[in-house]
Amino acid sequence: MSFRSIEQLLRRNSKTKISRNIVDGVHDQKEEQCVQSLRELLLASNQLPEKFDDYYLLLRFLRMRGFNILKAKEMFLNMLKWREDCSVDAIANDFKFEEYDAVKRCYPHGFHGVDKFGRPLYIERIGLVDLSKLMQVTSIDRYVKYHISEQEKTMSLRYPSCSLAAKKHIASTTAILDVKGLGMNNFSKSAREMFVEIQKIDSNYYPETLNQLYIINAGTGFRALWKVLKAFMEARTLAKIQVLGTNYLNTLLEAVDPSNLPDFLGGTCTCPATGGCLLQDKGPWTDPQMVRASKAAFGKGQKSFNELTATIACESFTGCQEPSAKQVDSTSRRKRTLGMLLKDDQDGTDTSGNILQKQVGEQISVKIQELEDCAAQTKETLQTLICKQQELTSHIEQLRKILR
Ligand SMILES: [Zn+2]
Repeated sequence: MSFRSIEQLLRRNSKTKISRNIVDGVHDQKEEQCVQSLRELLLASNQLPEKFDDYYLLLRFLRMRGFNILKAKEMFLNMLKWREDCSVDAIANDFKFEEYDAVKRCYPHGFHGVDKFGRPLYIERIGLVDLSKLMQVTSIDRYVKYHISEQEKTMSLRYPSCSLAAKKHIASTTAILDVKGLGMNNFSKSAREMFVEIQKIDSNYYPETLNQLYIINAGTGFRALWKVLKAFMEARTLAKIQVLGTNYLNTLLEAVDPSNLPDFLGGTCTCPATGGCLLQDKGPWTDPQMVRASKAAFGKGQKSFNELTATIACESFTGCQEPSAKQVDSTSRRKRTLGMLLKDDQDGTDTSGNILQKQVGEQISVKIQELEDCAAQTKETLQTLICKQQELTSHIEQLRKILR
């Protein structure tokens, strides 16, 4: 057996390649070198907590600082200090935003499905904001805490679930800001304060998470306000923003499937529950089984989750589209199969349980057979290598004899 075939055998044995692509993505060589340098710099000074020892997290700070490693390090350390000072972990775990529904009613915003690439789609109808009511139901301080808790949820839950659903690494958001009716007159001092505070948090501590922002329905009032707001924003962020008038739909549809776009923006989605599309937080991150699979996949120290789970979990998320009968069938089968693999017994009483159990059993048998084949091949490879080693030893011995 040649070394080439050994290499091929080892490659075949790498059963987790697909799942690793979802978790790790595809790395650019130059970027990887910069990330490694930043990582070593932080490790040398004992300033890289395990939780933040993540390739994409470090890359975001490097990108934001134009790959200047020292500046990226400074920015990263500022983020750690801010998290400590503001008790961000406590906000993420314990903060309860009881006024959630009331706030959403006077300030319609929320995540709603995914864009065509699979990134979370965030929509905000800031033109409809009722500021005096908003300040009655919450405070700037509480709203900022809510914003931080949402950012944490996006990092720890929305991106991993979207990655799993789209079968590729997802680490940014596409956003739509509907500014219909917004201008200098209804953008009060406290609203400006809140906007600036949130901008500061997003660009300093969650850099490079915006894929694209579409500002739609921009009239003359907004364009005057925009000139002021632009001053508070980073050039890199500004480059990702498109300001569109009322004729925005075709541009949006290039990025978002109509089924993921609410009807009030020209899409086909009409979420039925009270509050409509923006109260649903609809997306792959609300599918409990997807959430469990993504936690298993992205959790620290558990990166090599098996391909079987990933393959079954990774059917594209269809958003709010009415599923066809075939889709319902495949979706429910996927959920049940995944559920069984995750030891979820919610389908225990299902009449088709036995058939499904048999299917899972068959799938597992196939996997066992594949693993046994691999084990046999590995044994063969090892024996070949041992023979080669013995041959080599005898050649060396013969050469030594000639030398004497
Ligand atoms: Zn909807």
